[in-house]
Amino acid sequence: MKPLHLFCDFDGTITGHDTLVYLATHLGAGESYVQWVGEEIRAGRMTLREAIAEEMRSIRLSFDEASRILREQIPLDPGFADLVDWSRQQGVPFTILSAGFHEIIDLFVPPDEYPWVRVIANRLDPDTEQGWICHFRDPGPYGHDKRKTLREARDHGEYLLFVGDGLSDQRAAEEADIVFAKLSLAAFCREHGIDCHEYQTLTDVRDRLESLRGGLTGITEAGEATEAGEVTEAGEVRG
Ligand SMILES: [Mg+2]
Repeated sequence: MKPLHLFCDFDGTITGHDTLVYLATHLGAGESYVQWVGEEIRAGRMTLREAIAEEMRSIRLSFDEASRILREQIPLDPGFADLVDWSRQQGVPFTILSAGFHEIIDLFVPPDEYPWVRVIANRLDPDTEQGWICHFRDPGPYGHDKRKTLREARDHGEYLLFVGDGLSDQRAAEEADIVFAKLSLAAFCREHGIDCHEYQTLTDVRDRLESLRGGLTGITEAGEATEAGEVTEAGEVRG
């Protein structure tokens, strides 16, 4: 029996906008700086970890004030609560894997409201004098190596579902058994021949998982899925 595990990116996936980009653009160094950082990342001159550290360091606002603004300005994906409900009802663990920060995720996904959801993310020390300081999980280019967590889950015999939208999700998409992707992650999957279900909102993800349920149940009961395994809409497993 191969248990399912649902892993989900946070910024731009559970939220409607990337909270870190919003912070840096509106409360930190500003739009032109954020654009320049984006170009540096694309050109390979700056890692995502370095970029996030620089952007957060440009913020001097108190965390309370920034929290109030973020909650006002950043919407949650309309399907998030339903997707969590689906995973809880199915007994499928739901883990947020984020290159962002626990402190910000807790604002949108309060642990007492979402006890089913586990969060793996970096830590933030919002210093109003020196700028916000990041404490990353990993020294690598992403600051949080999502692939490492997926490999550990695979080693524990789990079948890996992954939902994401961006740069920090690329290694995870290479590793997962079933990928749900939008925006730049969907483009990355197309470019690199990674099968993915393209989606608009988490409601689409929940509906697709529900329609795949027959095939997924087959996987969990027969335990016959392989790393290259794919579940078609008809619910059959292809190696
Ligand atoms: Mg994202």
